[in-house]
Amino acid sequence: MKNKYQVIIIGAGPAGISTALNLYELGIKDILVVEKYKYPRYKCCAGYITNKTKKEYERLGLNIDKCHYSLIKDFKLFYKGKVKQKIINKFLYTNRKIDRVELDYEFFKLLKTKKIRVLENTSIKDHLMSDNKVILANDKTYYYDYLIFADGTNSYGKKYQKDFKKHLAMQMTFKSKKDDEIQIHFGYSKKGYVWISSYQGITNVGLTDVYNKKTNYQELFIRILRENGFKEDTKELKGTFTPIGIRKPIVNNNVFFVGDAVGACDPLTLSGLKYALQTGKYTALAIKDNNNKIYLKYINNLRFKFSFMLILLHIFYLKFTLFCVFEIGCRFFGKIIDFAFNNFFINKK
Ligand SMILES: Cc1cc2nc3c(=O)[nH]c(=O)nc-3n(C[C@H](O)[C@H](O)[C@H](O)COP(=O)(O)OP(=O)(O)OC[C@H]3O[C@@H](n4cnc5c(N)ncnc54)[C@H](O)[C@@H]3O)c2cc1C
Repeated sequence: MKNKYQVIIIGAGPAGISTALNLYELGIKDILVVEKYKYPRYKCCAGYITNKTKKEYERLGLNIDKCHYSLIKDFKLFYKGKVKQKIINKFLYTNRKIDRVELDYEFFKLLKTKKIRVLENTSIKDHLMSDNKVILANDKTYYYDYLIFADGTNSYGKKYQKDFKKHLAMQMTFKSKKDDEIQIHFGYSKKGYVWISSYQGITNVGLTDVYNKKTNYQELFIRILRENGFKEDTKELKGTFTPIGIRKPIVNNNVFFVGDAVGACDPLTLSGLKYALQTGKYTALAIKDNNNKIYLKYINNLRFKFSFMLILLHIFYLKFTLFCVFEIGCRFFGKIIDFAFNNFFINKK
């Protein structure tokens, strides 16, 4: 059995699959993808995508319609439990189950149509950087020219990076009779938001916050459910971390980090899918041209953008700013906020 590959990718989430598909498209086909779970696998994520993300998926050959995405037109912003702004949503697409399972599974199926070796139910056990080799949980050893860590926020490769702050994000999905709409609530968590999305009899409630170990998030989540008229218990509540800030993108010149593993998740909105796909694309281009600067340039732009978003986060969640935005801004400049959301803020090219 072959034990040397040009590229080994650890993790078959959006970032790992994007890296593999982009490499394949560029003619690099000697690839091994290693995934911890068996598909279809659960991923704690609401799975919203914007037009731009949709286009990235479509460029890679994924038919988004197959994943049952649509626009829920009613989009409302709440502050302290009260509706402050209604927006006719033209930018945020939602899956029929308001989760990521179907999207990732279709993307994975697309990967499987290529001549790329994929090992499911297998994770990385050891990495010997000086020998360019990894040992997997099945005790087999594989050698590589390039190794890609695409294994999320808690990447095996994070031992090569500095530790960074994290967002906590929790969500649960259940059946309900609520009308189709997306609600975004501010004022529950200190530096994050709550979403309550309902679509065709399914509701997804989620919470984000810059992680604060003093906050009892379970209790907060129950309060959010009750104050919004839900009686469900939190047995199905799932939570995980998302990164804040860009981490080291390349070590040893041939070990790359992509997606959440490099911190490619917007610290303000928590949108990470677009960046997961794009980090895969630029890594593939860098490998093809044997020029790491291609990836580093993209990452530096991202670092700059995310630093700006982080400053915005700290300003936006000040009590004074929230008051100004929702009690004054929405009241007098509602139309401008609607326009900004649909045309600049999320749908920007
Ligand atoms: C609650 C929540 C809601 C979110 N909502 C949105 C949203 O609506 N829209 C959006 O754009 N972003 C959202 N995000 C962010 C988004 O989920 C991430 O940015 C995105 O999943 C990053 O993709 P990735 O491929 O880097 O990592 P992941 O999606 O985490 O994929 C990593 C893969 O690696 C595998 N893996 C892990 N460890 C190993 C190992 N040791 N060996 C082998 N394989 C391994 C995992 O099983 C997984 O398949 C949300 C995040 C959370 C937590």
